[in-house]
Amino acid sequence: MFSDIVHQQSVVRTLQRSLETGRLAHASLFVGSSSVEMEEMVIALAQTLHCENPPARSEKSGLPLDACGKCRNCNLIAERKHPDVQWIYPESKIRIITTEQIRKLIASSHLKSISGDYEISVICSADRLNTQAANAFLKTLEEPVPGKIFILLTHDAQKIIPTILSRCRRIIFEGINRSSIDTETRNWLWLFAQTAASSESGLLSRYTLLAPMVEKLAGLKQNIETELRNESPLSKYTDVENSTIERWEKELQAAIASEYRKQRAEMLAAIELWLRDIWMIKVSNQFPEDSYFPDLKAYSEMIASHISEKQARENLKTVSSTMKILDSNVQEELILEVFLLKLAL
Ligand SMILES: [Zn+2]
Repeated sequence: MFSDIVHQQSVVRTLQRSLETGRLAHASLFVGSSSVEMEEMVIALAQTLHCENPPARSEKSGLPLDACGKCRNCNLIAERKHPDVQWIYPESKIRIITTEQIRKLIASSHLKSISGDYEISVICSADRLNTQAANAFLKTLEEPVPGKIFILLTHDAQKIIPTILSRCRRIIFEGINRSSIDTETRNWLWLFAQTAASSESGLLSRYTLLAPMVEKLAGLKQNIETELRNESPLSKYTDVENSTIERWEKELQAAIASEYRKQRAEMLAAIELWLRDIWMIKVSNQFPEDSYFPDLKAYSEMIASHISEKQARENLKTVSSTMKILDSNVQEELILEVFLLKLAL
């Protein structure tokens, strides 16, 4: 369901807007670096369209805006066993989606949907459609049938043949900027992950993570303060009025506070990215292909082995809510303590 999705909020908003207005594209192309994230989004959309107890409905279109995640249809879709949601993967030895696969899909898409109003066909790695298969598929895309939805997934839109590309609504998933994590933060995260993976699970061990975190933040603050004070006019001019000095001092403090908030958010963002790896291991049973921390693989897998998929997802929610609370609250250490106690590691 959409409310469970932590990342890719702008994609969630786009899809919910389409439901709100009743203008769901009959063919969409999801473009993103992570198959897991794209497939999760397809499941949320399919659940929403088939949910037996949707928590919210659009007044305008009458369509549901999210799914309950608990009913029979929601469960069948999450397990990829729902008859109205078909998944196509490259199957042949050379990892190509064959004409045969597409023919079957088209044939079944002419039948009436089995239980719901919507029938969704998902083509994973759509860039692996061979030319013949793509041409067979093109006709279907050109003649939309009400209630039939096609969703194509790819890492690279440029590899999709233009005639197909032009018939799909493109939905771009945000990538994460690798370069935004500096070496120092990476090194620190390595230690943090090592501590988390090697300590016994339990409350006491969670406290062992607090110290490195508080220490890291103190270091950040110190560096920012030194650097910005050196750049400030306060360090260059002494023969000025008191009121000017006061103003400069105020400006300096504001600049320090704002830079500190920014760097603290970057630290948490790095933790969030690492927790995303752990969640991906739980969802797909393998280390993510687009991991930002391949060097942390051993630790990530160790933690993934003793927490549940639900806990891994909760971890992601905990980081985002902590980031929000930190921005509006001064009791930093207390908030971080609560944060660490909530994490399942
Ligand atoms: Zn449901």
